[in-house]
Amino acid sequence: MERGINRANETIKMNRRKFFKSATLSLAGSSFLLNSCASDEGSDTGIKYSKLDEILSRPVLKTELFSDPVIIEQISLLRYDNSILCKVVSHEGAEGICVSNDLYMTSLYPIFIQRVQPFFIGKDAVKLEEIMKDVYLHNYKLQGLALWLPLATVEKAVLDMLGKIAGKSMGELIGEIHHTHIPLYLANNNRGRSAEESIARIQANVSEWPFKALKFKVAGRMHEDEHPRGRSEKLIPLVRETFGNEMTLYTDANGGYSVEEAIKIGKLMEEYNYGYFEEPVPFDWYEGTKQVADALDIPVAGGEQEPGMYNFRWMIKNNALQIVQPDQFYFGGMIRSVKVARMAGAAGILCTPHMSGPGLGYLYMMHFVSVLPNAAPFHEFKGFNQRFEVECPTSSLTIDENGTIKVPSGPGLGVIIDPDFINRHQIVKA
Ligand SMILES: [Mg+2]
Repeated sequence: MERGINRANETIKMNRRKFFKSATLSLAGSSFLLNSCASDEGSDTGIKYSKLDEILSRPVLKTELFSDPVIIEQISLLRYDNSILCKVVSHEGAEGICVSNDLYMTSLYPIFIQRVQPFFIGKDAVKLEEIMKDVYLHNYKLQGLALWLPLATVEKAVLDMLGKIAGKSMGELIGEIHHTHIPLYLANNNRGRSAEESIARIQANVSEWPFKALKFKVAGRMHEDEHPRGRSEKLIPLVRETFGNEMTLYTDANGGYSVEEAIKIGKLMEEYNYGYFEEPVPFDWYEGTKQVADALDIPVAGGEQEPGMYNFRWMIKNNALQIVQPDQFYFGGMIRSVKVARMAGAAGILCTPHMSGPGLGYLYMMHFVSVLPNAAPFHEFKGFNQRFEVECPTSSLTIDENGTIKVPSGPGLGVIIDPDFINRHQIVKA
């Protein structure tokens, strides 16, 4: 087996520029063209900041779909147990709902109520991007998950409402549809378990669905010592040997390594033909991330914790990341994430969103990916929502034999959430 892998590595091993080209050109039906020109040193994607700034200045929401204003009459934050919903209602009675990321919204609701919600009441929802800029201008000192998660929660509820009014899916509101089916990878987290125990659990998880790609955790989170020691060095070859050459493999260090350690472990992943290496060093150690990326052929992925647009701009320009992973909640919503994906695309960099938390995260992920001409080959899946029922007239919301799932094409989020579940929620007050 190992010889086979090494032989495959000899043939498949390619430098990062070749990877981009290969991955990019394999995007079936995509009009995305590689237009980056990485420098000979591999330290810069060649894109100009002026080009990235032009991309950032371009609107995302298709306001031309709306001939009349959609005045927001009411925004409610609703809670039942640990579930948090945002409901928006227009003057004409149109409604939109977002199932928020409850992991953090249960702490951040005062920011939502005091510092985000008031900017939307009485405003025209079609001017969503302008309102969001205004929220940022008045709250930029809160930049980070504390601001972006509440803002992303309103944004998704507004997009759901606008989609229902226009008869368009969330994706159709923010881009052109490039993907009707999303290929998934399964994210596994078995930190603290031995390599042998981890592999048994990964096998059990993966056997539930016909996945063609998977990701697992390496290192200790954010520079903690790994437990048990040496787990990652054992697991990296073991996962490849267990799943064979057909399975696409990714790892996620959650910022666990120093630059030197990350380069060492990255080279081991290259030996076993891994697809990318996520957050090798702490996410806000930008020069460290770039040093790792410059030293390795395997693409470095990151961005799930990134709060700043200009940090993404720098990392894209300077080739510090070869896969960008904005989170649909942590980064302030789908519109901001599209801007990151557009910048990445112009530099020949692929995008795959980080999927945070339970609820309906997989649905927001699918709508976002549906509009990415530079989508990575596989996208994060952490399981279906287990807490409540949704009906979807346009997708079975099941994983097919190819390991893909069909994006709902109905208006807004494209699903009907169990009304009994919604009715159990009570209005949250700060
Ligand atoms: Mg991660």
